[in-house]
Amino acid sequence: MSQMRAALLDAPEQPLSLADRPVPAPGPGEILVQVIACGMCFTEVNQLHGDYPFARFPVIPGHEITGTVIELGPGADWPPVGTRVGAQFLHDSDGHCANCARGEQILCPNKRITGIAVDGGYAEYFLGRAGFVTPLPEGLDPVAAAPLMCAGITAFNGLRQAGIRPGSRVAVIGAGGVGGLAARFAVAMGARVTVIGRSRRDAQTAHALGAERYVATDDQDPADALRAWDGGADLIVNGAPSTAAAVAAFGGLAPDGTLVLLGYNAAEPLTLPTMPMVLNRLHVMANPSGSPHDLRDTLAFAAAHQILPEIVPVKLDQAPETLAGMAAGTVRGPRRVISF
Ligand SMILES: [Zn+2]
Ligand SMILES: [Zn+2]
Repeated sequence: MSQMRAALLDAPEQPLSLADRPVPAPGPGEILVQVIACGMCFTEVNQLHGDYPFARFPVIPGHEITGTVIELGPGADWPPVGTRVGAQFLHDSDGHCANCARGEQILCPNKRITGIAVDGGYAEYFLGRAGFVTPLPEGLDPVAAAPLMCAGITAFNGLRQAGIRPGSRVAVIGAGGVGGLAARFAVAMGARVTVIGRSRRDAQTAHALGAERYVATDDQDPADALRAWDGGADLIVNGAPSTAAAVAAFGGLAPDGTLVLLGYNAAEPLTLPTMPMVLNRLHVMANPSGSPHDLRDTLAFAAAHQILPEIVPVKLDQAPETLAGMAAGTVRGPRRVISF
């Protein structure tokens, strides 16, 4: 087991390349994970375009990882060899800043991002940090669960950071990876949900997710449709990789409502009208994944409610064409998950 198959981003705007790489040896505090599956996140498209100033090249991308612990490095005494774990966007943090001290490692200024600053899960083996992986709860399929490590935690944590409550009116833009999970989590948390999509043909998907309404922007202005929903949405959750979609729905917020950016397009700035924001005390926030405790809560909630994303498994050899298709907009719909 000295060599492993991996997919690499060698430089911005270069397609993923497939290569054999040495299986890494776990250093202090690290664990070697044999990867079972790794979801393909839209982050990798931003990364492909060179949008992250802290990105390392070449790098093995991928931060929606499930796998089995097979070796512990020096000083690592957990999780035991054989444990099935999930590893996420947050690779590790400095452990001593004010944010780490209050358990918000995701806000650490010295955090490192899996698959961007350090090698990720588009490979047969992955080096994780002992305190930053989470054991998978019983009953979660490790391939279908992979997208919970980014799309899932981002949706779950975004909803609760935004103050979702039973009875909240939550509008979710886009019923794909993050949006579909946000809709199902919101329903399971006791909220009322409207899904906003482009065409009428996604209405059935929206109702299958538990939404009480569906708004097709081909037919209706999303802001008008939301204002007609008992006075507007308490939360508008943008699950689409489009800033424009969030701007179009913004006028549908109820007073004191919050726009939550989960999906976004790094190339499109957010421009919003200021007067209605002030008069209605509106809020805008975003949510980047979460801390280790958030991943535990996400996985426990998903297992308890059996909330798993719809996925399309792909092989590692298909990753280059799949990522190119995601960048070109030709690969859409359910999350692609590399299954080993
Ligand atoms: Zn810190
Ligand atoms: Zn991601």
